[in-house]
Amino acid sequence: MLLLCSNDDGILAAGLSCLEQAARSLGDVFVVAPDREQSATSHSLTLHHPLRPIQLAERRWQVDGTPTDCVMLAIEALMPTRPDFVLSGVNHGPNMGEDVLYSGTVAAAMEGLMLGVPGIAVSFAGRDFGTNQAMLDQHVEPLAALLAHLTSLPEFPAHTLLNVNIPPIPAAEIRGVKLTRLGRRVFSDSIAKMQDPWGRPIYWIGGGSVTWTAGEGTDIDAVRAGFVSVTPLHLDITHEARLEDAAEWWKAP
Ligand code: MN
Repeated sequence: MLLLCSNDDGILAAGLSCLEQAARSLGDVFVVAPDREQSATSHSLTLHHPLRPIQLAERRWQVDGTPTDCVMLAIEALMPTRPDFVLSGVNHGPNMGEDVLYSGTVAAAMEGLMLGVPGIAVSFAGRDFGTNQAMLDQHVEPLAALLAHLTSLPEFPAHTLLNVNIPPIPAAEIRGVKLTRLGRRVFSDSIAKMQDPWGRPIYWIGGGSVTWTAGEGTDIDAVRAGFVSVTPLHLDITHEARLEDAAEWWKAP
């Protein structure tokens, strides 16, 4: 099996090395990742300047672009053959609920899917990653086992990517794996108004607090309860239910 590993935290990220270790137990690993932090770049593509990939080792490249650029370049240009799976992560922080729409980690798996390669995005749902490094190391083995299971499913679901979130607890305390749907989250006070050195107003997006609406069966609910969450996602965001009830609200112009 040939696996492409990428991420959105950059080629030096500890989470990527965790994913690589897990992936190496499954097959041959090719790494193409951004040369720097690209979190929250979503599914953006670099169109207005060229990309210059740098080969760091055999089967290891850094790219001065987004996670989407990396996966596209890997599959279309850098890899000698198409990978069987795109693995993305392990992200430094959760990717649950609406976060999947901002996430570069999830976007890398999405890009694989758009190019016809099934994808799995993995995130470690702890915030303070620096102090969680030792804990993350414990998760390499269980992650390898989970990825071995997911990549050997007799029918990997078509047109689907799997979004995995690992709870930030010691691996020995994980209670199992749950199939989930996306929860909801609302950020409050996430824009800080500041001054630049010349006294002009500037705004910095980030920080604030997060409120989760965790219904039963959601990703956040599972992670809070100590389960690894696996959410199947697809790219078609057509609102099927609105099409079905169109008779109630749609009048042709
Ligand atoms: Mn990230």
